Amino acid sequence: MKVDCIIVGGGLAGTLLAWKLARRAAKVLVLDPENSHSCSRLAAGIINPVTGKRLVKSWHFDQLFDFAKETYREMESEWGVRLLYTQRIFRAFRQMELTNQWNFRLGDPSYASLLEPPQQSPPEPELFRQALAYGCIKKAARLDVPQLLASVRKAFAERQQFKGSAFLRETFRPEALVLSSEGVIYGEYQASKLVFCEGWKLKDNPWFGYLPLNPAKGHVLHLRLAQELYAKRYIYKDALYFVALDEQTVWCGSDYLWDFRDDKPESEPLSLLKDKAEQILKKPCQVSGRFAAVRPTVRDRRPLLGQHPEYPQLFVFNGLGTKGSSLGPWCAAQMAELLLEGKAVDEELDIRRFEGREQPLEAK
Ligand SMILES: Cc1cc2nc3c(=O)[nH]c(=O)nc-3n(C[C@H](O)[C@H](O)[C@H](O)COP(=O)(O)OP(=O)(O)OC[C@H]3O[C@@H](n4cnc5c(N)ncnc54)[C@H](O)[C@@H]3O)c2cc1C
Repeated sequence: MKVDCIIVGGGLAGTLLAWKLARRAAKVLVLDPENSHSCSRLAAGIINPVTGKRLVKSWHFDQLFDFAKETYREMESEWGVRLLYTQRIFRAFRQMELTNQWNFRLGDPSYASLLEPPQQSPPEPELFRQALAYGCIKKAARLDVPQLLASVRKAFAERQQFKGSAFLRETFRPEALVLSSEGVIYGEYQASKLVFCEGWKLKDNPWFGYLPLNPAKGHVLHLRLAQELYAKRYIYKDALYFVALDEQTVWCGSDYLWDFRDDKPESEPLSLLKDKAEQILKKPCQVSGRFAAVRPTVRDRRPLLGQHPEYPQLFVFNGLGTKGSSLGPWCAAQMAELLLEGKAVDEELDIRRFEGREQPLEAK
């Protein structure tokens, strides 16, 4: 069977790319074993424009956010589902430095549309322990990533428009790939191009394993609150993020482990997470789920997009790191243009930035 493109990995990266390509009439085959513990299935999907202790605006945030919003709204209107929730983030300040930094940013016109002046009480004082002060981030959102993954799969299975494209529940085996002058042959499938979107598993990839991925494992708890308190109106950020999944279940995470054996949940980090959550919440909670996944983070904190330097039929789309929800649509669009038109991707994203360099430079 002939397709235009085989995509290995159907997380957020592979799924967005498949959709972008198939909408432009390319025939696409996506291979993924559909593990429930993949990074995209676990992510909270938060889009936060201002992060870290220094409250720095994310790289190209305005452009990325507008593009992401437009893409998700397009998908929503095509399928009649809700994917993107614009929500405010309440950030708790437990050190004076953070309050001072917030006030400093408030004076900067490029942050004016993002931040509100500090306030004294948390959004739900009966639920959260009092901090020094609170800041509200306005231009934030949350993507329902599992819903997006399910919706694209459903559209591929049902819509005439996507006939000839498919998601296959299968693990790709590199030893079975044949590189030919026309492209690639994988079992019964032939394609002119193959794109690897395997998340942190890129580190084992025989062709792209040289790229400087620096994966970070993260644990997540699903908490059930004793009372119906936490409305779906906002995201709460203290030492952890709290995101309402439904009237009673809250997503709570996460940690960053750089040294780990596999992507399975570990008991010690999970109990640390629970302790932290209890220090933030005033009300008792029950743990209803314990999870872990690995983020495909890159040493210079920029995505990895591009074509293999020696095998022109092989491509990579990876490195969405901690910001897949905001970076994904824009990067997927650039990948689609590279694959369909040969148009070069943004040089800050292009894997050619690592050519001839032993150690990649740190991001500025
Ligand atoms: C705890 C946690 C919280 C997060 N929260 C947020 C957040 O709030 N906001 C945000 O924007 N981002 C968040 N992220 C990051 C976000 O999840 C990632 O940026 C994004 O999901 C990465 O998508 P991906 O498709 O590149 O990788 P993945 O989701 O890891 O997908 C890779 C896919 O490739 C498949 N695969 C691997 N090897 C093979 C193979 N050999 N054959 C076939 N398939 C294969 C895997 O099964 C998987 O489905 C979070 C991540 C974690 C871990």
